[in-house]
Amino acid sequence: MPSLAKNKSKSLKPKKVAAKAVAKNGHQNGKNGIRVSAKTAVLKKADKFSKATGKATGKAGKRIYFFGGGKAEGTKEMKNLLGGKGANLAEMANIGLPVPPGFTITTDVCTEFYTGGKKLPKALGPDIRASIARMEKVVGAKFGDPSNPLLVSVRSGARASMPGMMDTILNLGLNDKTAEGLAKKSGNERFAYDSYRRFVAMYGDVVLGMKPEKKEDHDPFDVILGNKKKARGVKLDSELPADALKELVEEFKAEIKIRVGVDFPSDPYAQLEGAIKAVFQSWQNDRAILYRRLNNIPAEWGTAVNVQAMVFGNKGSDSATGVCFTRDPASGENVFYGEFLVNAQGEDVVAGIRTPEKIEALGNVLPQAYKQLLDIRRKLEKHYKDMQDIEFTIENGKLYMLQCRNGKRTGFAGVRIAVEMVEEKLIPKEEALRRVEPEALNQLLRPVFLPAAKKQAVAEGRLLAKGLPAGPGAATGKVVFFADEAEALAAKGETNLILCRHETSPEDIRGMNASLGFMTAFGGMTSHAALVARQMGKVCIVGCDALSFDYHARVMHVETAKGRVTIKEGDWVSIDGFAGEVINGRVDTTPSEVIRVLIEQNLDVSEAPVFQRYAKLMSWADVARKLRVRANADQPDQSSAAVAFGAEGIGLCRTEHMFFGEGKIGPMREMIVAENEADRRRALDKLLPLQREDFHGIFKAMAGRPVTIRTLDPPLHEFLPHDDAGVADLARATGRTVEQVHARIDELKESNPMLGHRGCRLGITYPEITEMQARAVFEAACDLAAEGGTVFPEVMIPLVGTKKELDLQADLVRKTADAVFAEKSRKVAYTVGTMIEVPRAAVTAGEIAETAEFFSFGTNDLTQTTFGLSRDDVPRVLAAYQARDIYQVDPFVSIDRKGVGALMKIAVGQGRAIKPKLKLGICGEHGGDPSSVEFCHEIGLDYVSCSPYRLPIARLAAAQAALKTT
Ligand code: PEP
Ligand code: MG
Repeated sequence: MPSLAKNKSKSLKPKKVAAKAVAKNGHQNGKNGIRVSAKTAVLKKADKFSKATGKATGKAGKRIYFFGGGKAEGTKEMKNLLGGKGANLAEMANIGLPVPPGFTITTDVCTEFYTGGKKLPKALGPDIRASIARMEKVVGAKFGDPSNPLLVSVRSGARASMPGMMDTILNLGLNDKTAEGLAKKSGNERFAYDSYRRFVAMYGDVVLGMKPEKKEDHDPFDVILGNKKKARGVKLDSELPADALKELVEEFKAEIKIRVGVDFPSDPYAQLEGAIKAVFQSWQNDRAILYRRLNNIPAEWGTAVNVQAMVFGNKGSDSATGVCFTRDPASGENVFYGEFLVNAQGEDVVAGIRTPEKIEALGNVLPQAYKQLLDIRRKLEKHYKDMQDIEFTIENGKLYMLQCRNGKRTGFAGVRIAVEMVEEKLIPKEEALRRVEPEALNQLLRPVFLPAAKKQAVAEGRLLAKGLPAGPGAATGKVVFFADEAEALAAKGETNLILCRHETSPEDIRGMNASLGFMTAFGGMTSHAALVARQMGKVCIVGCDALSFDYHARVMHVETAKGRVTIKEGDWVSIDGFAGEVINGRVDTTPSEVIRVLIEQNLDVSEAPVFQRYAKLMSWADVARKLRVRANADQPDQSSAAVAFGAEGIGLCRTEHMFFGEGKIGPMREMIVAENEADRRRALDKLLPLQREDFHGIFKAMAGRPVTIRTLDPPLHEFLPHDDAGVADLARATGRTVEQVHARIDELKESNPMLGHRGCRLGITYPEITEMQARAVFEAACDLAAEGGTVFPEVMIPLVGTKKELDLQADLVRKTADAVFAEKSRKVAYTVGTMIEVPRAAVTAGEIAETAEFFSFGTNDLTQTTFGLSRDDVPRVLAAYQARDIYQVDPFVSIDRKGVGALMKIAVGQGRAIKPKLKLGICGEHGGDPSSVEFCHEIGLDYVSCSPYRLPIARLAAAQAALKTT
């Protein structure tokens, strides 16, 4: 943007110094001087802005939207173009809330920035100058004017909120002259230089890239600030006098010159250009890329940039800044919930550096502004009809709104707010269903601490400290102090980790994701750690000020009533995210309220408010959805759990899982190593009663609901013993020598077992296996019918690729049924169908449907065979493929609509052309993935089947899919 900066500073070239640092330190520095691994460097490159985004480039229309002075050019509906922040600032201005004036540079300009080689479009310069002039008029101050300077903030704002992931610069427009002017105009020299030193530090960090060099290092600006406080003999930043702050500005600038090699820019327009570019660039920083990946946000959306007149919460005791939620974002309770700091700027609250006060206390400090804020709370909830997350600043007693957006919330809060807003008649039920993230329901099923175990821990004096309960749930795990180490440990399979830090920053996001929970010494309920916990659904405690850290020694100290307790890396701690309590050592956990009511049935509904809200939401979902839901279950107890979670049938009973049960693996192995039919039949005879008993139990639990039972599917080697003891047992049971058993095991080895002797191929080569299984199914069904129960078995043949395979197996099943019915003098209704899990089955589904009475998509194998990628080996390539956007999501988690989905559509079309009422379902893992459920709804499947614990998610996702199309 050359037209903006009059005296474009030639010294703004940190590259050389950065290159030197690489040479010297032997590592590569990221854009902002953060040490990045080779892996993250690849990530950055790979997540490049797609040039083929289809978004406007070059021929962009209006690039800037103005707001302020009681009106705005944008509206809340324009999130795609203005980002969430820009659209809501415009909306708040339009509904008459006090919003400082400013303008939003659109997300299209972000596209232009990247497609144009990270340059701002030329035409933007004059538009910015014109918009600054409009701001100057509304505010009555001038940008760069030494006697009456206008200062601005420059903030990111994407379509979807990405809290803390991108960059922000405050107090822009200050230089030695304007700082002096600001001091005079405000009559408050301290305030002017406090703002200036904050600006230099923020700009130095975000735009010029002066960051800590090593993870153990503190922020370089904080170090200088700390030294200054020591030298002046004060404890708090606010105790530093104006001349000390003035010194700080110079010391910061000097350090920037030494470390980064640039002079700090003094021209406000040059500052603005640098800041706008830095915000656009922050769209591609590591943590933003990772955040997008975790939240499925497309890279091509880009961020908007908001330039807004500064208001100051740090102008003295009648000024403040705060963040609040119109309801409690952790529990969902309908109370005003928030925090503020007197005499501070917004970043102090969000960054979690000072622990703020509860919002109610504002009523005592600044009652007028508090009353106005309460009015705004009501007005915003009425207008947006959702819980809002608000940022505000009070400058000399006057309230300004800086942001509002739909607030992030825990799963508990999501359900509570949605249900209560329906009861308050604020929203209809359908909207409540749309609001709740299906995956968030998981949190309601999470364990809590076993009351007796926790009581005992407290009695033993293990309750160490209390902080703020920011993320509900209970977690017990090993202490880890560094996010990258948590990530590395998790990669090695360590799942019980508690990340403990003074505070967290967006750089820590990977390690936070890898941990069960985290806790911080500083920061409030709106700090970074708290926001991330709510979003990721992690257990979290923040603001636990009894903690202090010695990262070098890798210990944390906890000040307790009985003295100091030191906890080392790797020690166990337990955190209660409901109560905010930290407990030394392990504490056993117990199932959640929902599980206790539904599964364990040891808690009365009347004492379970969380369950009551969950049940209400589920009942609405059941009315709205068109898809039926079934469970993948292979044991009677799993089947009962499935029914409790709302299953309307079993979509997949993997019979092979039953063979791992008590007393079953022996005969199964005998069957596998048998060398002739007679031996095989002998082993199968032992298995028949065991299998029949299991089916009986399942049918009973399902009480007449359909049960899809699949014949044996997996490669047989999965059942063979891998250790000497197992081989010896098998030798004994089959009357052979150990060598003979080894020889047989070797004979059974296959090059590609996944593509080998498995699925219906087993039943075709050894029909007696299918025969035994069918017999077990029908004998159990007849027995239960004789006892007065109702049953509806659906026998399913796996891995079919040709009609003939199904014909042979279906014929065998039907013949066996007839034989059993004749023996038992009783008939039960049943069907025979197939899985569609190889591409050939999908593209010849018309033929297959002539025999099949139902199809069930086995999308695990269908994904594996469509991609030609082993489902077991996918982790080896996944990270690299996701980093390069080859796969946006793991195709084994969410259906690949273009490939696998296209095959499914072909099969649906061909199958229903032959049998219009052909029953269609899915039983791959995708059946519990919300996006895949939506796809199944779209292509007209009858049901989805998933693990019992994912049923609530599937029910809600199915409802959301139905609501989308009605
Ligand atoms: C599938 O392939 O999707 C399926 C459900 O079968 P399995 O996972 O048992 O192979
Ligand atoms: Mg399969």
